[in-house]
Formats: sequence, structure tokens, C-alpha cells
Amino acid sequence: MTISLQAKKKILAGILPVLLMSCLVPPAQNAGEEQNDEPPLFSAEFSSDYAIPADFDFEGEIARWYGFREAAASITFDDGTYDQYSTAWPVLEEKGIKGTFYLAAGLIGTGDWDDHGTVRRMMNWEQASQIAASGHEIGSHSLNHVDVTAPGVDLDAELRESRKLIESQIPDVSVETFCWPHWRETDKTVEAAEEEYLSARSGNGIISYYYSRKGGIPSDPPENMYAVNALGILNSHSDSDWQKVAEDVYREKSWFVTSFHGVEPADGPTEGTGWSPLSRDVFSSAVDYLIDRGFWIDTFAAVSKYIYERDASLLHLANGGTSLRLTLDNSLDKGIYDRELTVSLNLPPGWETASAYGPGGDRVLSRIDSGKIIIDIVPDGQSVFIKPY
Ligand SMILES: [Zn+2]
Repeated sequence: MTISLQAKKKILAGILPVLLMSCLVPPAQNAGEEQNDEPPLFSAEFSSDYAIPADFDFEGEIARWYGFREAAASITFDDGTYDQYSTAWPVLEEKGIKGTFYLAAGLIGTGDWDDHGTVRRMMNWEQASQIAASGHEIGSHSLNHVDVTAPGVDLDAELRESRKLIESQIPDVSVETFCWPHWRETDKTVEAAEEEYLSARSGNGIISYYYSRKGGIPSDPPENMYAVNALGILNSHSDSDWQKVAEDVYREKSWFVTSFHGVEPADGPTEGTGWSPLSRDVFSSAVDYLIDRGFWIDTFAAVSKYIYERDASLLHLANGGTSLRLTLDNSLDKGIYDRELTVSLNLPPGWETASAYGPGGDRVLSRIDSGKIIIDIVPDGQSVFIKPY
């Protein structure tokens, strides 16, 4: 995987803030270019009532989170136990939510895992492939589930070989993010992970630790994209315990990352489930809470990419006289950073509504909210045209 590390570091250092450029181009000057760029096939006629004043004042914005949601959330699972396949995955599927499954790659397909004296049944590669094929993220949780900060650990095996093993066993999967076993990482392991992954998840299982360790509630962007804090939602927590944390994160307009382990089947506890298992009902209502609260819920990789792209992209706006042209671009690797960003743009005077069109004249999904058009756009340098019909 080719990751533009340099670009990422710049973002993390805050050198590239969210930039917004208003390029006011008078219609006369730009007429020729507009004619070339603009798709000719529209059903409606342009009326002079809709003419855009040359001094039109653009107010464009890239949303902090997808869809202008207040806060983001990622539902992630550690280890790759069978119950995550048999119980947790169907719950997510039922609700239309995508999660991130972090596999201890060397344990997948080996049957039972002796987890410090407790037997856990692991999923196999066929099951992991089914999860991947339904659009969830498969990440690496190391090769052997060892504490990678311990002396003598083969970091290359735990980081790189785990990724390669998953990619060789699951068709069409590119492993993009990592999750630290035992929630432990150091500066050295973080540096090694930067060579292999887009980002990495850490965490805590004790609620007071969530606030005091690993940077607490993640800043935006997170202080360290390779040790993003997560809350272990364990069976020792009540709903109100962990939901208080989620509410605090929501208020900060930040990113609430969960770390789930076991989820028991609907008919009750069984042998071999993951650590600190929740009942199916408790897990299901946790997901419902995040949905109902209005978090933007997506995979750890998807939110990571949104942050990188958002902070690296420039919004270019041009006044074409009869339309507005909007272009979103950045210098990141387009092969990796291909997620849509949500942008909004105010409408010119007299426009009651507007629609968005791609360079080929195809309609781009958009909505109008409080006098602004809201569109999801991949920051690939392609122009989108906004018209009053
Ligand atoms: Zn683990």
C-alpha cells in the first residue's frame, strides 16, 4: 500500500487547516471556459431571473463530518471470535450499519484459542470473507495477539505479516487499519504502524481511563491517528455508564470509537465467546442508541479517510454567470483516498432551489437545507455544476 506519509504528517501537524477558497471569476472573462466545461444537455431553460451577480459572495464549507452530522462513531470488534460472526455481524446487517472487525490474523481458522486460560472459538477465513463481502472493514489485530510493546516481539510479523495473511486469505480485501492488542502501543510501535497502515485504534476498558489516557476524547483531528482512543464496552458497564461517555464525545463533536469483544447468541451464553461478552440484546440496543442519537456511523478506515481528505482538500468555487462550479481537490493518493466529503454552498439571490450535475451532465445527488445546497463529492478534482433547475 502506498500511503503518502508526508502528506499525513503535515495534516497531523496542523500545517494544512481546512482551507476554503473563493475564486470569484467574472462571467465575461470566463465565458469561453464555461462553455467548454459545461454539459449542454439540460431539460430546463435558463432564465435571466437566475443570473448570478458578478459580486456573488460564496459561502462554501466542507462538513466536519459526513452529512453534516454533529459527531462520528465507529463500531469496532477485537480478536475475530466466532460469536462476532454468528451474532454481532447479523445485528449490524439488520440495521444497515458497517463495522470494523479487527482479526488476530494468526488465530483465524485455528478453532479454539487459549486466551490466557480461557478458551475462545475463533471465526474461520470463510466467515471473515463473508463479513468483508458485505462491506464491513476487516482490519488487523496483529498476528499472534501478543503485547507488541514487550521486548523481543517481532514487530514486522505482527504488523506487516498479519496484514499480508488477511489479504491472502480474503479476496479483494485491502487491510487499511490496525488495532493494538491489549490496547498497548508505544512511540516505537506507532512509528512502525505508520509504514503499514492509514491509522490505528487503541483504547481503554475502564471508563475513567477513557478521559485520562490515550489523549482522552479524541481531538479533531485526533492527536495521534495511530493511537486513536476507543472505549471498551464491557459487560461490567451499564448502558448509562458508557452512554455518558458517548454523550460527552457528541458534545465535543468528536469521534466515538467503540471496542467490543464478545456478543452472546440470542438464546443465551455459550462456550467459547469473546472476552467480556454482552448479550445480543444489549449489543443491539447499543447500536440503536448510536443510530438514534444521530452519530455518523462508519468504519474506522472510512472515518480516518474522511479526516485526512477533509483536512487536505481545497474547495474551489467559480461563478459561471449561469451556474456555479465547485471543485474539490487535494494532493493525497486518489487510489486510497476516494471517500466522499460533504460540502455546502449558499445559493445565489432569487434561486429557490438548485441541482448539481457532474461534468458529463449526469445528476449528482444533492439536497437543499436552509438556503444551501448540500452535496457529497469525492475530492478528485472533477467539477460539479450547480444550476437553478
Ligand atoms: Zn484483542
